[in-house]
Amino acid sequence: MPDDSLSLDSLAVHAGRGDLRALGVHAPPLDLSTTYPFEDLGDAVASLDAMMDGRDPEAAGGPVYSRLHAPTVARFETGLAALEGTEASVAFASGMAATTAALLAARRDGKAHIVGVRPIYGTTDKLLSSGLLGLDVTWTDAHGVADALRPDTCLVCVETPVNPTLDLIDIADVVAQAGGAEADGGVPVLVDSTFATPILQQPTRQGAALVMHSATKAIGGHGDVLAGVVAASHDWAARLRQVRILTGAVLHPLAGYLLHRGLPTLPVRVRQMQATATDLAARLDADARVGRVYHPSLSPSPLVGPGRQMSGPGTMLSFEILGADGDADGPAAFDAASRFLRDLRLVTPAVSLGSTDSLAQHPAGLTQRVSTPGARSTGGITAGLIRLSVGLEDAADLWADLDRAMGSSHP
Ligand SMILES: *Cc1c(COP(=O)(O)O)cnc(C)c1O
Repeated sequence: MPDDSLSLDSLAVHAGRGDLRALGVHAPPLDLSTTYPFEDLGDAVASLDAMMDGRDPEAAGGPVYSRLHAPTVARFETGLAALEGTEASVAFASGMAATTAALLAARRDGKAHIVGVRPIYGTTDKLLSSGLLGLDVTWTDAHGVADALRPDTCLVCVETPVNPTLDLIDIADVVAQAGGAEADGGVPVLVDSTFATPILQQPTRQGAALVMHSATKAIGGHGDVLAGVVAASHDWAARLRQVRILTGAVLHPLAGYLLHRGLPTLPVRVRQMQATATDLAARLDADARVGRVYHPSLSPSPLVGPGRQMSGPGTMLSFEILGADGDADGPAAFDAASRFLRDLRLVTPAVSLGSTDSLAQHPAGLTQRVSTPGARSTGGITAGLIRLSVGLEDAADLWADLDRAMGSSHP
């Protein structure tokens, strides 16, 4: 392990690579084994017991079987934990598998009540509302957490920045409402930090117990890996690994390899995308064809800046295209938004985010469609709203594309 005093950039390059010199290699090996030979039965039994307890198999018996432990995935987990500043992280087959595991791991001692802060990622909203996991859920907003707590509350779930309006929720305040950090007797708080990445926000510094990422997004960063990860303490990681062993929502080693390969460039990717997003947000905000523009750089927040909850405003922005009637909502705005998406050439019309190339999508029609109508209307999601995931293209080229596509959608 590289030492903790290193900066994020250095950790991103070196974390999870501590065993490579001893192996005599420079790049991490990709180990696709599903099973592992053992030398000694006693050692294998000890290793199996350790893993069933949720521990890493430091024991001599090796990984035994890849649903229990995958060394290539474990290197990524070490790297991601270093960036989040947590003791450990546990990777899953998708972001939803990671969220599901966190919910299942939180349920214990007869406690099965969750406080969900809306708005939250649409599929998470649906998962919690569906009753599928047998959890009792109380929905609230960022200010209602304290009132929503019950003696059997086992987890508070919150997402920040919020999708797609990029509102920021004060993590320290939510933790305070939950009774303080878990170590001080508070109810554990899970933060979906996907939009921020560990480069811009490390929620455990504000007292969150669990940090969840859809690693499908900026952490993977190249649009070719579906994955999720939860960063937390050793104790939480043990319970998350136990859930992963039992439910089998493991990450494939090739996916773990690709995620680890992307970590060294994560800081530069995020900072470059953020600079371009800030530039585009200002141009959109000054444009008469556009209604509201959502990017934390435009409405300076006490939560953004060096040493704050978020070190910068982030790589995602949303904006409203006005319809022929000048309205950002209603059928004319929907038409204008669909023409805009059709006429983009450089930007790809697609859901998802955090890739090297820019992606634009329509929240009302696509990502927020699975939310309940109530959750949708409180989230500011109008028919003209476009969400843009800013990639690594040149800012002027991106602006030229947006400008031209908007031109054709203007009355
Ligand atoms: C994509 C996403 C998820 C779900 O992740 P998958 O990898 O698609 O399962 C959860 N939260 C946020 C904020 C996301 O963007």
